[in-house]
Amino acid sequence: MRIGLLGGSFDPPHNGHLHLARIASQALDLDSILFIPCYRQPLKTEAPHASGFHRAAMVALALSGHRRWLLENLELERGEVSYTADTVEALGTRFPGARLVLLVGADALAAFPRWHRFRDILAAADLAVAPRGGVESAPVPRSLPSSRVHLLKGEPLTVSSTLIRQTVAAGRTAGHMTPRCVAAYIRKEGLYRE
Ligand code: ATP
Repeated sequence: MRIGLLGGSFDPPHNGHLHLARIASQALDLDSILFIPCYRQPLKTEAPHASGFHRAAMVALALSGHRRWLLENLELERGEVSYTADTVEALGTRFPGARLVLLVGADALAAFPRWHRFRDILAAADLAVAPRGGVESAPVPRSLPSSRVHLLKGEPLTVSSTLIRQTVAAGRTAGHMTPRCVAAYIRKEGLYRE
């Protein structure tokens, strides 16, 4: 069994996340993908804007209709800085024999050698990197074992959670950058207005 792991702030989730999942699913023949909202990302200076409750709710909405893409709450439940090494090790124990693949956008590749215990991450999971709009595709850093890194091909999308938050704060709709049900949730709950 091959399981993709897509971690992030999902503040909010958007079409770029779904596009990344689709590209990886097809290229790597994944049986399922776990979407894992972090409690707090180690390399981001700011805490997420929306609560874990709202971010998980929006991920669940974004995944409706995708039977094999699932919300996984273990980082929110741990409730501390979310280290991917802890997450892949916990999931490796939960799914013995499964091949785990960590899915990231191109912006994460150059920084990956700075991730906490990155060698332990690559001992437990492969890394798959998708193109991202506005991000030059960088070579695989020399400190990473290239046999564990998959560079995915696909159309780059420029959407980001930051752009959505800015759009909503400016009083405009984000409906073209995120599934409609997520845009409706943002409106109903009054998220990202400032
Ligand atoms: P923010 O704008 O708040 O920094 P973000 O849009 O980068 O957020 P995250 O939830 O932090 O979203 O990203 C989770 C993962 O999804 C990261 O690996 C990131 O590289 C990847 N990702 C996000 N947007 C895209 C995109 N448009 N194309 C490809 N990958 C993406």
